[in-house]
Amino acid sequence: MNMPLSPSAPEAAGLLDGYTHTIGGKAVESERAFPVIDPATGQPFALCPDASRAQLDAAVAAAARAQAMWRHTPLAARRDALRAFAAALRQNRDDLAVLLTREQGKPLHRAQDELDRAANAIDILTGIDIGPEVLRDDASGRVELHYRPLGVVGAITPWNVPIVLATPKIAQALYCGNTIIVKPSPYTPLTTLELGRLARDVLPAGVLNVLAGGNELGQWITEHPGIAKISFTGSVATGKRVLAGASSTIKRVTLELGGNDAAIVLDDVQPREIAPRLFWAAFHNSGQICMAIKRLYVHEAVHDELCDALAQLAREVKVGNGLEEGVELGPVQNRMQFDSVQRVLADTRGRAEARILAGGHALDREGYFIAPTIVAGLGEGTPLVDEETFGPVLPILSFNDVDDAVERANRSRYGLGGSVWTQDLDRGAQIAQRLEVGTAWVNHHLGTDMLLPFGGAKESGLGREYSGMGLKGYMEPTVLKLPAAVRSIGRPTPRP
Ligand code: NAD
Repeated sequence: MNMPLSPSAPEAAGLLDGYTHTIGGKAVESERAFPVIDPATGQPFALCPDASRAQLDAAVAAAARAQAMWRHTPLAARRDALRAFAAALRQNRDDLAVLLTREQGKPLHRAQDELDRAANAIDILTGIDIGPEVLRDDASGRVELHYRPLGVVGAITPWNVPIVLATPKIAQALYCGNTIIVKPSPYTPLTTLELGRLARDVLPAGVLNVLAGGNELGQWITEHPGIAKISFTGSVATGKRVLAGASSTIKRVTLELGGNDAAIVLDDVQPREIAPRLFWAAFHNSGQICMAIKRLYVHEAVHDELCDALAQLAREVKVGNGLEEGVELGPVQNRMQFDSVQRVLADTRGRAEARILAGGHALDREGYFIAPTIVAGLGEGTPLVDEETFGPVLPILSFNDVDDAVERANRSRYGLGGSVWTQDLDRGAQIAQRLEVGTAWVNHHLGTDMLLPFGGAKESGLGREYSGMGLKGYMEPTVLKLPAAVRSIGRPTPRP
């Protein structure tokens, strides 16, 4: 594959160019382009094609043509094709990781890890059984539940973990017999465009289309009558717009939205022992993870010691350009987010009760760097505690009554994840069950597993991705009622 960017690619000519959309299995250029910024420098380093509405129409038409064939391609052949795509991803992993770090900012080893997880996700999801189920089989008759593909899926992704979010959408849609149009965030479009380039060699034309563009392109996708389902990952505000746009044709919609996850630390923990795990569950990817810990509720018996331990980790962690050796946290991904985090910090600094134990400011250097920040003393009713900051800033709140902590953790419009930390696992399990979230952990926080359903309660989302439950969101169920004498016409599997 002729990659536009490899670690040794010359950049003397100015901005990197040559990135293309993938429509109907072909490379397609656009008349317009927009710059992609390296968040470690704040400077543009590449140009990205900007898809027009006519190009979206062409992609939808190509995807619809391909779907007529792909839906009848045997499941095993679809699985093999997707696994060949995963293999191509692995072969190109090192070059893609450099590009991902360049556009997203994360440390190179984290970008490599994201690509590995993205390829593995394809293998795992395509191993899940999606055959028909037998609902009833007795003297009254036989009832089977069959699943059929929906048609063309539109996938819209954000800028924080673009590849590990795009590939499961691709795998789920295609494995179930749909075709797909993927639109990455305009802040991080390039690695996803490269996925399209890889697909041209291993997937039938039109099965996977990738178009880059701005928010307007996302809106066109949600409203397009030729698209049957939207799989969206992004903010709550945009998710609401997607839901409204999709209503015009009653599209199927899966929304994976923001979170403001609480972790509750009980009085029996060893603060210094758990501090590193809590720290990374909050600061991984510079806090730009939907299900990162964003509010830490700590029992007053261990509060001060845990604050000290976390502040020390925040001061010691190596922050810098993700391409530099040894860097553990990169910049905030884009200017808009950098400004937004700075506004929250300014508000926090202005509050008398706030005790900033580490960081609290931007770094005095080029790029969008914020010093990892730990804040104690705040309560609910402040922007840092109530809203998703989505940056390297963690508020620590004190409690002395567990019921009160659970009530405060649940007092949120978000409900993505939550966790309880304790040496008493039974007690931890009891408390974790009371969290109003899509995923609750004991002594852990963060991470997805393709065999488990993932999604949010309340305004954190709609529907689930991954696992058999997620795959069903990419298909339409049909109940098939047969007279008692008729035997199975499908491939029945036990009900899950
Ligand atoms: P965003 O909502 O601003 O953008 C996400 C995508 O939507 C982008 O591709 C964007 O171009 C597109 N878009 C913008 N306006 C649109 C419209 N009107 N119609 C259709 N598409 C439109 O989100 P972001 O700032 O890129 O990402 C950060 C957010 O994503 C955070 O809130 C984070 O919590 C959330 N997130 C959630 C999950 C999850 O699985 N729940 C995972 C990662 C990120």
